[in-house]
Amino acid sequence: MKTLKYSRQRESIKASLSKRTDHPTADMIYTDIREEFPNISLGTVYRNLNLLSELGEVQKLTCGDGKDHFDWNTSPHYHFICRHCGAVLDLPLPPQEELQHQAQKAFHGTVDSHMVYFYGVCADCRESAEIKVSTS
Ligand code: ZN
Ligand code: MN
Repeated sequence: MKTLKYSRQRESIKASLSKRTDHPTADMIYTDIREEFPNISLGTVYRNLNLLSELGEVQKLTCGDGKDHFDWNTSPHYHFICRHCGAVLDLPLPPQEELQHQAQKAFHGTVDSHMVYFYGVCADCRESAEIKVSTS
């Protein structure tokens, strides 16, 4: 098993991620912890987040916007991505075991997990669009 040397920077990255539910990118965490570690580089933040995801301590989300997002919640759950503002939100649907079962039936290898991303317009964006429409 991979063991890691204690790192204050990495602890701070974990603390920052654990306080947020907005699935931040490495850039966002970098902005957050730069006050505490003015000399830290974006590359260091990115490498540590990837390392933490390899260790299963955080979850990496690849939502299709070209940026990796990170999630402190490592339990299986689904996400919604707003096409308008790019927000990555939790979509509280229980894990769809039937879907995974169907995938296993259709596939010759072993299916052990799945990820689903839902896309559309978030409630905030939909509301602001409605406000614009109603005032014009
Ligand atoms: Zn939105
Ligand atoms: Mn999440």
